[in-house]
Amino acid sequence: MRSFCARVHRAAFAFLAAISVVGISPAHADGEINIYSYREPGLINPLLEAFTKKTGIKTNTVFARDGLIERLTAEGKNSPADLLLTADSGHLQQAVEAGVTQSVNSDVLDKAIPPALRDAENRWFGLTKRARVVYASKDRVKQDAITYEELADPKWRGKVCIRSGQHTYNIALIASMIAHHGEEAAEKWLQGLKANLARKPAGGDREGVRDVQAGLCDIAVGNTYYMVAMLNNPDQKAWADSVRIIFPNAKDRGTHVNISGVAMTANAPHKADAQKLMEFLVSPEAQKLYTYEKGEYPVVEGIEPSEVVKSWGPLNADPLPISKIGALRKKASELVDRVQFDQGPTN
Ligand code: FE
Repeated sequence: MRSFCARVHRAAFAFLAAISVVGISPAHADGEINIYSYREPGLINPLLEAFTKKTGIKTNTVFARDGLIERLTAEGKNSPADLLLTADSGHLQQAVEAGVTQSVNSDVLDKAIPPALRDAENRWFGLTKRARVVYASKDRVKQDAITYEELADPKWRGKVCIRSGQHTYNIALIASMIAHHGEEAAEKWLQGLKANLARKPAGGDREGVRDVQAGLCDIAVGNTYYMVAMLNNPDQKAWADSVRIIFPNAKDRGTHVNISGVAMTANAPHKADAQKLMEFLVSPEAQKLYTYEKGEYPVVEGIEPSEVVKSWGPLNADPLPISKIGALRKKASELVDRVQFDQGPTN
């Protein structure tokens, strides 16, 4: 365990300039696990505190927005990390492809998490979910139903705002369109969506809503939890107040959802205790702690989302497995390049 301390402290100094590394405490005793987390400390720490209180198992966490999978790869067998927490499914897939995960066979996880939201080989598990929805101007959009397909309808010409097509959230959405319609139809759709853009794809999901409020576009595509983020930010509350959430395809196949998740690292030194944390994260207590703060949806069926999330109306989620989306990510990315999506509307 001494070597973990040394490594962590070295790493802390090495990484401090480039990325955020917070909350590392030395690991001396047994009953400790080490976590690499792409999710921020404010969200994760209350969960870890609850876990330690319940089990006595302590946790050490390295937080970073980028580079954790690369770090696991570089560390190889010497990595102190037991678990990787990710903010989206793209990183889970990347971790599997990098060979830095291992399978975890757990009845608790299998029972709690629907099969569509975990890997068939148990190399990753969804912990929270979010829907990719339409934020529609309260003033200028009268309809209360929409489909992703309709985003390519010429009636929306010059009225749609969205972030880069290459962003992991849009890649997942486009991959779901390929899964449902085939590559050719998805390409046509993406071209139609591109033609409807009000501006070049840019910024984050919230900047789309900002631009709806400013009158630049009528609808923006974004993840549900950004509504909560905007409502909680005095500078962005007016953006949130200017829009309604419409769940695309609510009446047919369901709205595209994505996940945050967890994977056990290939060389986890504290396997048994790490599995205990994974299992704790799908307990009702943890599911609420994990989802209420940011406004996400529990992955465990029967656990209600927060009141504000419920106020948007029911989520009918597209049952397409996350693994199917993962398998089509590369194709989706190529499609985005092929139609030059990020160049924005050209006419
Ligand atoms: Fe996000």
